[in-house]
Amino acid sequence: MSIQVLSPEVVDQIAAGEVVERPAHLVKELVENSIDAGATRVHVEFFDGGRIVKVIDNGKGMSPEDLPKALDRFATSKISKSDDLWSLKTFGFRGEALASISSVSKMTLTTRRKGDEQAYQLISEYGKKQPIERVGGSQGTTVLMENLFENMPARLKFLKSDAAEHTAIKTTLKAMALAHHDVEFRIQENSKLVNFWTACKDRKERAEQILEIKPLFVGEASREYVKAYAVFADPHNVAKTAKNIWLFAQNRWVQDRSLQAAVNEAYRSLLMHGEFPIAAVWVETDPEYIDVNIHPTKSQVKFHDPSLAFRAVAGALRGTLEKAPWIQQSGQLRSQAQFGEAGGTVDYSDPAATYSSAKGLPNFAAAPVEMPKENLAFNDSTFKTTQFQKKDFNFPASSVQQNKTSYQTLMDAAESRQNFSNQNPDMEETQSTPISNETVAPVSGGYWSSLEVLGQANLTYIVTQHRDKMVFVDQHAAHERVAYEKLMNAWKGGKIDIQDFLFPLAIDMSPEKVEGLLLLAKDIERLGVFIEPLGPGTVGVKAAPLFIKESILGKVLDRMATEVVDQGGSYSLERAVGDICATMACHSVVRAGQALSIDQMKNLLREMDHFPLSSFCPHGRPVSVEYPFYKLEKDFGRIV
Ligand code: ADP
Ligand code: MG
Repeated sequence: MSIQVLSPEVVDQIAAGEVVERPAHLVKELVENSIDAGATRVHVEFFDGGRIVKVIDNGKGMSPEDLPKALDRFATSKISKSDDLWSLKTFGFRGEALASISSVSKMTLTTRRKGDEQAYQLISEYGKKQPIERVGGSQGTTVLMENLFENMPARLKFLKSDAAEHTAIKTTLKAMALAHHDVEFRIQENSKLVNFWTACKDRKERAEQILEIKPLFVGEASREYVKAYAVFADPHNVAKTAKNIWLFAQNRWVQDRSLQAAVNEAYRSLLMHGEFPIAAVWVETDPEYIDVNIHPTKSQVKFHDPSLAFRAVAGALRGTLEKAPWIQQSGQLRSQAQFGEAGGTVDYSDPAATYSSAKGLPNFAAAPVEMPKENLAFNDSTFKTTQFQKKDFNFPASSVQQNKTSYQTLMDAAESRQNFSNQNPDMEETQSTPISNETVAPVSGGYWSSLEVLGQANLTYIVTQHRDKMVFVDQHAAHERVAYEKLMNAWKGGKIDIQDFLFPLAIDMSPEKVEGLLLLAKDIERLGVFIEPLGPGTVGVKAAPLFIKESILGKVLDRMATEVVDQGGSYSLERAVGDICATMACHSVVRAGQALSIDQMKNLLREMDHFPLSSFCPHGRPVSVEYPFYKLEKDFGRIV
């Protein structure tokens, strides 16, 4: 066969395979056109697994002259020269979508501009246009697409089940609605109204509407020229998959592993294994630092410096999470939907929303309420204590001295009243840290100290009451969080011991990873790890916190380097230290089965108020469960 130029129809059909791989993609294209046309109301109907789709908008419409051009390939009203590409405000610009979709379907375009006497209609069948007709119609544009892929049976086979295609369409529309809070969306599936999202005043309100959780919380952060804005649920409200992490770059919905990792990172130590955050995150940067048009349907994005985006996103969430805004100062834990009465209206009918309900549904097997015996086993002398030399942690470079490698206290003992075996972070042996008998300073308006302690149940739970409910606090989990936060604070505050290696510890990795890691050298130093290049494929560690074992150090740095290369940022070191601290905390605090005096329990609660994240243990388990009095009254048959 000699070389031939493909006919425009064939070119369109080939392109259609890319642009409208699945009905959800073409829905996205049509809705973006409506939004580009300035619509404030968009109505989407779909049937038949998305082989019939209708999008109605109240946008600016098209002139009868432009109407047929809209279906031509590379016909667009949005750019005219290549310079315009860099100042794009619209979603479309390729002039490809309508040409592609109309080449593989029957399309009816009806449009009317403001001020026009009537509407104009154009029908096209698999790319063949019929003459334009005058019809009745209101301002805006209606695109009806039918018979999708009927001229391409091969493509038809690629479509999934009707239910799967409908779910994909609904997920796409959720994302579109999240990105455009000021646009009203009405969504009909098989003629049934499934969503009606009125226009909202801001992103938070829209996210509450769409994710069906209230309240959500807001965080913002910037790293150089990258800004992140996040709206998210408190860590009591979790999902079973990552599907409820919604990411937007320049307000376009994107799939991005690095940004997703950044979101998960922010929830570190707040979620249990298999739990995922519910969050929507918008990342904005100057257009010159981002490429969002890698592929029309893959919705991927490429940042000039991915680590800035990673850090901005993690920072936006973490900054607010660490303040635990869901704890009302004098009130109660919010959105702990223990009995389904609070924490929002989760739509279980939506398969895309795989929420699990709030954690820690209480199990009210009758626990004997014993009053504590006084002051048992909490004298400091009963605990193994190891005295180490103290050394202050001075920054910057002066702390790198090639001399001391002695064992020293991990933390300022006077401050923390805790001693740890710092040689063995994964320690097996248990050495409990006393709960101080000295009164801990109260935090004014603190939630935990406002609980009225009634006693201890089963030598495990602190039994309290507060307003309209009983609150049970797991003594071990609570103390664990307190000890963990103290350790992490000491580490972040530079109050830990640094071990200087006489000879740098050499870690081999690929040159690419070495380079990535060295970019982070300054950040890593702040965490107490000092590195230097030893060769193109080797990093040397000059000094590191004493409590990170050498064998772990190599693994952690290698993982960090991998993450830096893959996703532009890494919190591996924080994670590793967090894990070590969690293990240390777990092994060093009061266990279940220890009697506590009322004063000790009160003290522990007061201590918890000093750490906003006290409602979770460092492994993400809940620290308390609630039992509202109305539930008690129901159980006693006082009310029905
Ligand atoms: P692009 O959006 O990349 O320009 P499309 O093929 O999606 O390409 O659309 C082609 C043109 O048709 C647009 O540039 C616009 O002028 C017009 N158009 C499409 N949809 C609408 C709409 N809903 N309202 C007004 N004009 C529209
Ligand atoms: Mg378009």
